[in-house]
Amino acid sequence: MSVERTFVAIKPDGVQRGLIGEILERFERKGFKLIGLKQLIPTRELAEKHYGVHKERPFFGGLVEFITSGPVIAMVWEGDGVIISARKLIGATKPLEADPGTIRGDLAVNIGRNVIHGSDGPDTAAFEIDLWFNSIELCDWTPSDQRWRVES
Ligand code: UDP
Ligand code: MG
Repeated sequence: MSVERTFVAIKPDGVQRGLIGEILERFERKGFKLIGLKQLIPTRELAEKHYGVHKERPFFGGLVEFITSGPVIAMVWEGDGVIISARKLIGATKPLEADPGTIRGDLAVNIGRNVIHGSDGPDTAAFEIDLWFNSIELCDWTPSDQRWRVES
């Protein structure tokens, strides 16, 4: 399994509900490395680009309204297989179908208020990291306990 980076965002409902710490903790405890982190209220342009793949869907307008309605926590996480693993930590899109133990399974009920976003593959991850972050906002570093997580 190769080292990858993925884009994860806590949506405005997660921020408003005070779930930032809870969500960050799950990624930290799993053993992934935080490469970028910022809070911003996304512009409409950013939101429409981010969700561009859904622009013909009936929920698109409401989704863009929602995601631009307040602060979002944008993150880049790095690690072996992090793209698929982050999706597993996040859980199914419909929170009522998400397994208990996942973020959506534990913390959400409604598909339109499902707390968190995660890139769904390598191409999307690269596109979304580039869309949300400048390279100087990304931090390359080695955690001091790295050897206890990763074989060298
Ligand atoms: N969404 C929605 N209604 C739907 C389908 C999706 O509000 O019927 C929203 C929901 O917030 C979801 C996002 O659109 O997280 C993107 O949908 P996607 O299918 O890409 O789900 P995800 O990748 O977030 O699991
Ligand atoms: Mg998606």
